[in-house]
Amino acid sequence: MYLLGTLGEMSCEVRQLYGPFGYRLSVRWSDKPNDLKVKKMALEEISRLYDELVDTEFHVMPAGQFHIEDIYTKVKSNFSSLCDDSYLCIDNCGRGHNHPEWKHAVRRALDRLKRISPRVSKGERNYWTFK
Ligand SMILES: [Zn+2]
Repeated sequence: MYLLGTLGEMSCEVRQLYGPFGYRLSVRWSDKPNDLKVKKMALEEISRLYDELVDTEFHVMPAGQFHIEDIYTKVKSNFSSLCDDSYLCIDNCGRGHNHPEWKHAVRRALDRLKRISPRVSKGERNYWTFK
C-alpha cells in the first residue's frame, strides 16, 4: 500500500508538471497494466480528435451559432471512432467532470481556436459561433 501511495503522489506531481502540455503523463501509476493500455489508447484517440478539430478549425460545423451540446453531437457523428463515451473526464483530469473526456477535448479545442482562429468565437454561455 505504501508503494501505491507513493506512486500515486508521484503521479500527481507529474500531472502538474506536464499538465499544460496535454494528456500524455496523466495516467495513474497505480492502475493495472491492462487499464494503462486501455487508457493509453483512449488518450491517443482524444489527442487525435483534439488535433483534428484544431487543424481543421471545426470544418464539420457550418457557419452559425451553436449550443455546445449540438457541437458534441456533430463531432461525435463525424469522429465516432475517436469519441469513447466510456472514458470519463473524472478518470483523466484533476477535478474532472463526470462526462466523457472527448467532450473536454472538444471544449479545449474551442478554447484554443477562439484565441488563434478568426473562424471561432465564444458567444453567450455554452454557445459558440463559427464563421
Ligand atoms: Zn477532462
